[in-house]
Amino acid sequence: MLEHRNFYIDGAWVAPRDGRDFEVIDPSTEEPCAVISLGGQADTDAAVAAARAALPGFMYADPAERLALVKRILEVYTGRAEDMGRAISTEMGAPIDMAMASQVGAGTWHIENFIRAFDEIAFEAPLGDHAPEDRIIREAVGVCALITPWNWPMNQVTLKVIPALLAGCTMVLKPSEIAPLSGIVWAEIMDEAGVPKGVFNLVNGDGPGVGTQLSGHPDVDMVSFTGSGRAGKLISKNAADTFKRVHLELGGKGANIIFADADDKAVKRGAAHCFNNTGQSCNAPTRMLVERSVYDRAVATAVEVAEKTRVGSAHESGRHIGPLVSQAQFDKVQDLIQKGIDEGARLVAGGLGRPEGLNRGYYARPTVFADVSNDMTIAREEIFGPVLSIIPFEGEEEAIKIANDTVYGLTNYVQSQDGARRNRLARRLRAGMVEMNGKGRGRGSPFGGMKASGIGREGGSFGIEEFLEVKAVSGWDPNAG
Ligand code: NAD
Repeated sequence: MLEHRNFYIDGAWVAPRDGRDFEVIDPSTEEPCAVISLGGQADTDAAVAAARAALPGFMYADPAERLALVKRILEVYTGRAEDMGRAISTEMGAPIDMAMASQVGAGTWHIENFIRAFDEIAFEAPLGDHAPEDRIIREAVGVCALITPWNWPMNQVTLKVIPALLAGCTMVLKPSEIAPLSGIVWAEIMDEAGVPKGVFNLVNGDGPGVGTQLSGHPDVDMVSFTGSGRAGKLISKNAADTFKRVHLELGGKGANIIFADADDKAVKRGAAHCFNNTGQSCNAPTRMLVERSVYDRAVATAVEVAEKTRVGSAHESGRHIGPLVSQAQFDKVQDLIQKGIDEGARLVAGGLGRPEGLNRGYYARPTVFADVSNDMTIAREEIFGPVLSIIPFEGEEEAIKIANDTVYGLTNYVQSQDGARRNRLARRLRAGMVEMNGKGRGRGSPFGGMKASGIGREGGSFGIEEFLEVKAVSGWDPNAG
């Protein structure tokens, strides 16, 4: 079994000062696959102190040096792709081919996009021609605590660490304790790329421990968090006493609105998207809203997709989906499937228990409920499992009403060949992102939600701005350096 008890603090791997052992479970087998240490206050303090000490040297250096550093990180990251893919696959159950392509690939995509976006940031710029002696300076927020979840580990780590570095911040990363192996590979990458000591630090730990110590720490200026609303609230409250900037990337309950004139692949695409990563994505289109005239056909197609979705070990090559991440997640998904049945939704594919032939591992059955009404628990709560809820609607107004009737507002989806209708919908859906007709969002497009889906945006120049303070200066000498 792998042993990874040390933390990366001040440019070196150090033994925990205040740690206790914690076993990492491989969700494909339910067997322990590694031991890490959950840190305590002394570890958090050491990491924050290192980040604080490194801040002036890093934030006041030439921004071009930070760009060069991120380019080196990209090179090393690309070279370690295989190790990273294996770590992610083992810790959180993404099948190895998917882990390599999508999970590791998401990190590459974000780093490349941040490198492009860097040129759009005006670190020092005039206010305007009307005020030649005014300067707007954008400078690092300071020491950042970056707290990440297990579902898309490198997607989330790169969305935080890279813009923080480009902005000139120093940081302490606390990855999810149930999927910490990729974070350890990431710290090795940072070391190999030559990140100056103290700029990046990694401490493993859980929410009540290191997570809470970071969000309340007087020497931390900002917390950037991705995960549950439950933890997001606790972090915001704990951070309030020291007036930290808090960035929250929380859950979702995406509506995928399928009109009668949608393209032939729309339902298939929507169901497959819902099951991708075993349903463990905050932007998953989990509520499929279907126009009544094509409803029965859509239900039949979704059932077909569910039945064709193979479930298997993350260690096997292929296009199947893997297990859920943990026993807790498995239990939660089972409970919600049971609620769907109890509240009267029509179970048309999958259901309770494991898929046939899988007796060990946190495997769930790709599940489809039809005739769901939007007030049922399965339409309101984020399930974070391969469970699709299909809801019929009649006309555009009703579709908008149902889609917006949720506490969440992360990503909504629209499928229609009518361009004018798509644009109308895009304007009226209360969500941070609207993706239509299966078109992915472009490079540098901001990711983030409204309402209970969070505060702030990640990715591209929007993501770098989150880690910058704006300073307004008058009396500037425009002729001096
Ligand atoms: P979580 O929010 O409990 O954990 C996410 C991260 O926050 C982990 O690193 C964890 O250690 C840390 N954390 C937990 N409590 C904290 C606290 N009080 N202070 C500081 N840090 C804290 O999420 P989870 O238990 O891994 O998953 C539970 C649910 O959260 C899922 O079922 C899903 O609905 C949601 N979730 C959403 C996302 C997303 O991308 N939006 C990601 C993961 C989980």
